[in-house]
Amino acid sequence: MKIKITKSEKLSEKPDSSTLGFGKIFTDHMFLMDWNIDTGWHDARIVPFGPIVLHPAATVLHYGSEIFEGLKAYRRADGKVQLFRPIENVRRMNRSAERLCLPQIPEEDAMQALTTFVGFEQDWTPSAEGTSLYIRPFMFGNDETLGVHAVHNATFAIIASPVGSYYKEGINPVKIMIEDEDVRAVRGGTGYTKCGGNYAASNRAGERAEKMGYSQVLWLDGVERKYIEEVGAMNVMFKIGDEIVTPKLTGSILPGITRMSCIEVLKKEGYTVSERLLSVDELGEALKNGTLKEAWGCGTAAVVSPIGELCYKGEKFIINNGEIGKVTQHLYDTLTGIQWGKLEDTYGWTMPL
Ligand SMILES: *Cc1c(COP(=O)(O)O)cnc(C)c1O
Repeated sequence: MKIKITKSEKLSEKPDSSTLGFGKIFTDHMFLMDWNIDTGWHDARIVPFGPIVLHPAATVLHYGSEIFEGLKAYRRADGKVQLFRPIENVRRMNRSAERLCLPQIPEEDAMQALTTFVGFEQDWTPSAEGTSLYIRPFMFGNDETLGVHAVHNATFAIIASPVGSYYKEGINPVKIMIEDEDVRAVRGGTGYTKCGGNYAASNRAGERAEKMGYSQVLWLDGVERKYIEEVGAMNVMFKIGDEIVTPKLTGSILPGITRMSCIEVLKKEGYTVSERLLSVDELGEALKNGTLKEAWGCGTAAVVSPIGELCYKGEKFIINNGEIGKVTQHLYDTLTGIQWGKLEDTYGWTMPL
């Protein structure tokens, strides 16, 4: 695939690491590529970062044909920049695209787009502890008609944003509310895809939880409202006795790459890991009888986020004294160690640019 590069005439000053938040500052360029049902993907290009002009009838604005990915580039101590399991993001994006009737991107083209773009912008990867370059590939339907059908035109883009450390003041356990009213996804729906609509439908519960002092919600399954699914933008794991339990991928849960990596690390180290159904009643029982030892969320942004408090139907439960547990800390140290190149990558997960 040929990628045309148009360099921006005015390059921005790199921000100070201490001022980085999440997704507020963007690099000088973006990657774009267009698709048409007859001509396929064409016009792969890196251009100056700026607004994308859309027809007012563009599919994405009316029918929500949109998917995205999220991954990071990490700066190692030796100055090199590396990605973490990027092929998994490419594969997941194609699975999301299939569900939303958006076009597939051949894996090698998507990888080329990713590595060329991030390589081009790699100076934007900050080096302060815990900081990284967040990469956001996304794709949307771009037909200029209000007719409802699978898209005939689409755009694929990649933007990147230097982001600060998720844990500026040390790893603080979060408070989570179990949501028993709204549901995020149902089997047969789009729960397993990273599509914008899932987030749009999640916001109301998130706002309600925030007003009550909780940082995120823990979703239950959409049919019986009985089984634990995931947290906001993170998958979830529990240590019950000596068993590490994480909800199995039933179709309504997003298959996180951090989740998969945690499972692989834990299994390799001899932990008992079960991907299974976990009912809120079983969790409540484990909370009450003290067998719930640790709980944590896992996702690219936070890596691993300990859960210190759970609220269900107004009842509050403190987990592990509101402190980070041993397994949670170990997973955090292992994954961040590999990502930032401080630990040897015996899994072959990292990809230096
Ligand atoms: C992205 C995402 C996750 C985490 O996936 P990672 O690949 O680990 O970053 C979990 N849940 C939802 C709903 C997500 O969108």
